[in-house]
Amino acid sequence: MKFDKHGVLEITKMNYDSARPKAKNPIKIQDVSLRDGHQSLFATRGRTEDMIPVAKMMDDIGFYSVEMWGGATFDVMHRFLNEDPWERIKTLKKYMTKTPFSMLLRGQNVVGYRNYADDVVEAFVQRACDNGIDIFRVFDALNDFRNFQTVVKVIKKNNKHFQGTICYSLTEPRMGGKTYNLNYYLEKAKQLEDLGADTICIKDMAGLIAPYDAYNLVKALKEQTDIPIHLHTHFTSGMGDLTLFKAIEAGVDIIDTCMAPYAYRTSHPAVEPLVISLLGTNRDSGLNVKKLAEIDKEMEKVIPKYKQFLDNTKNAIIDTNVILHQTPGGMLSNLVNQLRQMDALDKLDEVFEELPKVRKQLGQVPLVTPTSQIVGIQTVNNVLFDKDETYSNITEQVKDLCFGLYGKTTLPIDEKVRKKALKNYPRGQTPITTRPGDILKPELPKIKKEVKGLAKNIDDEILCALYPVTGKRFLNWKYGLEKVPNDVKAITLEDVQKEQELIKKALSGGLTTKKVKPANTRAFDVYVDGEYFNVEVADPNAKQREIVIKKKEEITTGNDTGNLLAPIPGMIIEYKKNVGDEVKAGDTVVVLEAMKMFNNLDASCDGVITNINHKAGDSVSKGSILCYIKSKK
Ligand code: MN
Repeated sequence: MKFDKHGVLEITKMNYDSARPKAKNPIKIQDVSLRDGHQSLFATRGRTEDMIPVAKMMDDIGFYSVEMWGGATFDVMHRFLNEDPWERIKTLKKYMTKTPFSMLLRGQNVVGYRNYADDVVEAFVQRACDNGIDIFRVFDALNDFRNFQTVVKVIKKNNKHFQGTICYSLTEPRMGGKTYNLNYYLEKAKQLEDLGADTICIKDMAGLIAPYDAYNLVKALKEQTDIPIHLHTHFTSGMGDLTLFKAIEAGVDIIDTCMAPYAYRTSHPAVEPLVISLLGTNRDSGLNVKKLAEIDKEMEKVIPKYKQFLDNTKNAIIDTNVILHQTPGGMLSNLVNQLRQMDALDKLDEVFEELPKVRKQLGQVPLVTPTSQIVGIQTVNNVLFDKDETYSNITEQVKDLCFGLYGKTTLPIDEKVRKKALKNYPRGQTPITTRPGDILKPELPKIKKEVKGLAKNIDDEILCALYPVTGKRFLNWKYGLEKVPNDVKAITLEDVQKEQELIKKALSGGLTTKKVKPANTRAFDVYVDGEYFNVEVADPNAKQREIVIKKKEEITTGNDTGNLLAPIPGMIIEYKKNVGDEVKAGDTVVVLEAMKMFNNLDASCDGVITNINHKAGDSVSKGSILCYIKSKK
């Protein structure tokens, strides 16, 4: 790296033209607007139809690559958007023929929340290659690279790019301490080199990495290895741009940014100011600022469709809590949402206090999907449900973690917690020490049989292998076997405008409240002065426009009867029992998914199930009656 006499990047040529040659060693830029950008800001709700108008323009920019798949997109697309995830790759590829496509792959977790068997993992990566993914950013939430073995084999066989990734984690406000210090990262980078990584990525998912730590880390890595270094950070804490700049000075090869409309807040630094800052220096990207501005203009047009997902509760666009609590942005919004749904938002400070303790007890793991959810939800459970004993309500995922099913934790798990978690654990009480994939039996044959007739190809089957409940539900929509619900349908800009006008009118008292709920409504949540309203607007195609606003009623949680109530809002994964079945107190009756974690709900008394109110795939609110158990008294 060259610096001039003022200690800044050397100006090689005063050339501020929009169309100018790049430097000899330009900073390479991956755009992540179409994956992590909307995942960070808009709950991953970005639709393919809104990416198409900018796809060709982005392809012409000269990005090193575009990240446009993986992470949460696969889940959200088929669950909330009624979109086939595989189709997005093929569709965008038609418009983007020059720029390599990159995806975020959670190693043996693939794009799900647990480790899958090798046959599922192999099939998934093969189909991702076939459908058009070029670069695989592979990470493991525990930085246990044994979870890379299977995916790397397939990536290499297909001659694709394997980006080995280290999750950046901290226990202090800055890099260092006993666990996550410089040596930890250098050691991990060596392991990735041995695995044959084409590039090495430092993945700072929570925006924790401080500028001088990034500088020192990149410099040390560049001295240790010739493999190009890629830095991924978020703006969340407000340090993102500073961090990227110091990393560039330290010689980082590739960085991640977003187009301005998808940048900042919990997302990433924007590309435009960075390109301008480096104009004429020896790291000049050569990217054309005018062309970037044209893309921004086009992108802004669709943003109103997504604004409802933006967290606008505070004025600040940065969050200092991230540094204080090492809580990734996504995890924080999940915690807040869950507490709010349980009317326990006042417990947030307690959750923050408890979180480092739970994290330490569970092996001081990095906090990234899925460990961020695993630690986060367990912390919420401890705060809300522990009265006479600790860890009174342990999620299934925590039990799996304790058994070793996610891999090796950074530090050993607290023995008392592990013992309690593994009591009655079906796989046994002694944790494994092998690669988790080694003990998982093939999963594809069973799922293929299960979805025979419904799934039309291997991509359909893989979807169901990863997401059995929502995957099947999606295929039913896809093949016209079930009516597509309104809330997963795309909305138009006209819809958005009309909805906004109606809300404005309604809140100013300009509309009368009607008791009759019109057919075909679209529901959404509105918060006014801390009060929650559920607003339903009639389908724009309906003959008469009507609006219903109802204040959310307190749901009675009742305690008398044999009603089994949902203790938290969530989606039903399965009923373990049928109507007519006898149950004993403590038997698991329903498995409820909340914030991606599975909770076994047990019968509170001996009896017979006389009534079941829902089915797998149904979303239920807190206090919903799931079934009735007639007591045997
Ligand atoms: Mn990220």
